[in-house]
Amino acid sequence: MRIRKHRFPGVYVFIDEDGSEKIATRNLVPGQKIYGERLIKSEGEEYRIWNPRRSKLAAAILNGLKNFPIKPGSSVLYLGIASGTTASHVSDIVGWEGRIFGIEFSPRVLRELVPLVEERRNIIPILGDATKPEEYRALVTKVDVIFEDVAQPTQAKILIDNARAYLRSGGYGMISVKSRSIDVTKEPEQVFREVEKELGEYFEVLERLSLEPYEKDHALFVVRKP
Ligand code: SAM
Repeated sequence: MRIRKHRFPGVYVFIDEDGSEKIATRNLVPGQKIYGERLIKSEGEEYRIWNPRRSKLAAAILNGLKNFPIKPGSSVLYLGIASGTTASHVSDIVGWEGRIFGIEFSPRVLRELVPLVEERRNIIPILGDATKPEEYRALVTKVDVIFEDVAQPTQAKILIDNARAYLRSGGYGMISVKSRSIDVTKEPEQVFREVEKELGEYFEVLERLSLEPYEKDHALFVVRKP
């Protein structure tokens, strides 16, 4: 058996021919490749290998993430969905019962997402600015999880403002923080401590994880709305 379940529902572990372990998700749209990833067939199912150098969420899982609140059936507000590399795996995980509201402020980048969402109807692409959550109020419902990957100086505030508007009580936030986007002059550790403090004023901070060696000077935080 080359594929087994990961401890996080919807995530799989693939044992490669050289014995190395990779993570994967079950392809919601069999035959569809999004970013040149490998497709694997096992017992009548198709899986997509999840590349940690292309997706910070995959890097976090491989680095031993403890809290992974995205599950089959979850509703997710995704800030900075870009052309959908990571979101396509989130789409596999949440399945047809789940939903992803994908916010992206670059029209050019959002256009690249269109072919993907034509078949993956659980992704709703929204052209919008994550710093102005009121702008997409008519399109987004309350969600279980907010995932943020925008590489902006006000990353923590963006998560808090969106959580106030769209995260259910007891829901989770996941945020990838790039220290150099916040302040290039400070040590990454100092930037992460300041972000943690800011997040802690609104959320319960459950976890902070380095994304090295896959991403330099990045950390992923998992937080919970009380
Ligand atoms: N999460 C994506 C993935 O793993 O496939 C990559 C996201 S990329 C690092 C950051 C994206 O956030 C870019 O596409 C950028 O245009 C978008 N972005 C930056 N600031 C934003 C904002 N204020 N509102 C919406 N999107 C934003």
